[in-house]
Amino acid sequence: MKRAPEIAVRCPSCGGEAVAGLEGPACCRSCSAERPLALSPSLRDQHVVDACPACAGRQLYVQRDFNQKVGLGVIVAGAVLAPFTPYYSSLIVAALVDAGLYVLLPEITVCYRCHAHFRGFARNPAHQPFDLHTAEQYEVKTG
Ligand SMILES: [Zn+2]
Ligand SMILES: [Zn+2]
Repeated sequence: MKRAPEIAVRCPSCGGEAVAGLEGPACCRSCSAERPLALSPSLRDQHVVDACPACAGRQLYVQRDFNQKVGLGVIVAGAVLAPFTPYYSSLIVAALVDAGLYVLLPEITVCYRCHAHFRGFARNPAHQPFDLHTAEQYEVKTG
């Protein structure tokens, strides 16, 4: 099952999450406000993120779409069961489950400048995992 490409940006009216497909403006899930997005041909036709349609930023990073709470829950369950399993094996199992989840998770692309999320797109080989130094440049600029 492949998810349709989806772009999530911040709603200009309420700050909530506005979501767009490959057609038309992003629509806010909370207040229904619309935010127009200028999709590049690469984004629309090849499903490769080359620039952010919300802020025109060209610096983006990739990360796993990891649910921290689920990951933590698995580890906590493993820790709770550890005294009752031989050689604390539940902890090892929990770590393996977490690692497995991580590999199975889809990658998403995120804009450094405005934190727009791109789900269901192909990875642009030019994009690297999150880099704190790059992020700090934007913290200073937008301050
Ligand atoms: Zn809104
Ligand atoms: Zn952006």
